[in-house]
Amino acid sequence: MTKSRYKPGGFDLAVRRARAGKGLFAKEDIPKGACVVEYFGRTLTREEEYTSRSRYLFEVTKKKTIDGWYKGNVARYINHSCKPNCEVEIYKKRVWIFALRRIKAGEELGYDYGKSYFNAFLKPMGCRCTKCMSEKRWAKVQAKELKQKKLKKKKKKA
Ligand SMILES: [Zn+2]
Repeated sequence: MTKSRYKPGGFDLAVRRARAGKGLFAKEDIPKGACVVEYFGRTLTREEEYTSRSRYLFEVTKKKTIDGWYKGNVARYINHSCKPNCEVEIYKKRVWIFALRRIKAGEELGYDYGKSYFNAFLKPMGCRCTKCMSEKRWAKVQAKELKQKKLKKKKKKA
């Protein structure tokens, strides 16, 4: 019997500060084609599909949407990337993240969220993936955010 492809390889991953908020990073090299992690979540009821305000909804099939807002689901920290190193595969109504190419330790994981998500949520505020935001601009954004944080603190004190 062949081993199922759909079994996460138990890679060492870490949640860290990324360009788009928090992100998921590889702490060790991941070979091309490896199953990295499962996007795990609770299946929504029909009603919840309309009322849920979770940021981590994933439409698995037309009839099944899961909510990845769950502590154990580190895959929810994977950000969109226009030059992804991961891809999503749906298998047996479950969601799996695979490595599109060899991923080196320290790299942030990303997959393509798809055109409709991109146009609705990322395009309006500017995509912050590693392809769209250069190291230099990222450093500038971080500096600006730090400044704003300090200003806010000052305002609170006054
Ligand atoms: Zn991008």
